[in-house]
Amino acid sequence: MDVELDIRTTARVDIVDVTDAVEDALPDGTETGLCTIFVPHTTAGVLVNENEPRLVSDFESLLERLVPSGEEYEHDAIDDNAAAHLRASILGESVTVPIADGALTLGTWQSILFVDCDGPRDRRLRVSVTTRESS
Ligand code: ZN
Repeated sequence: MDVELDIRTTARVDIVDVTDAVEDALPDGTETGLCTIFVPHTTAGVLVNENEPRLVSDFESLLERLVPSGEEYEHDAIDDNAAAHLRASILGESVTVPIADGALTLGTWQSILFVDCDGPRDRRLRVSVTTRESS
């Protein structure tokens, strides 16, 4: 089963908690399986970590330190967003979360965080669920 979620980001770098939206997208009757969350964009990524406001700010600072704005990147000659591509490549484009008893098996402090590196924009997120029989 595949579902697409629409996400509207509101800042150049915007970290959006999509955990509840992904949970809501799980089909009824899914007892055990795998949920893959895939970002079909080249300037956004996804990670699993804690949605704590100061930590979210720390992640934004980390991206800025790893791939600074204002540097000279070759791709900027085309559409001026090389830093966003490079940051997204560090984050990765998918995460997979096991499903048990019909729910995501995230740890207590884990959330699924969509990271737009080139917002604000309308974005999409693909949620794919693979089910298997419980044993
Ligand atoms: Zn580009």
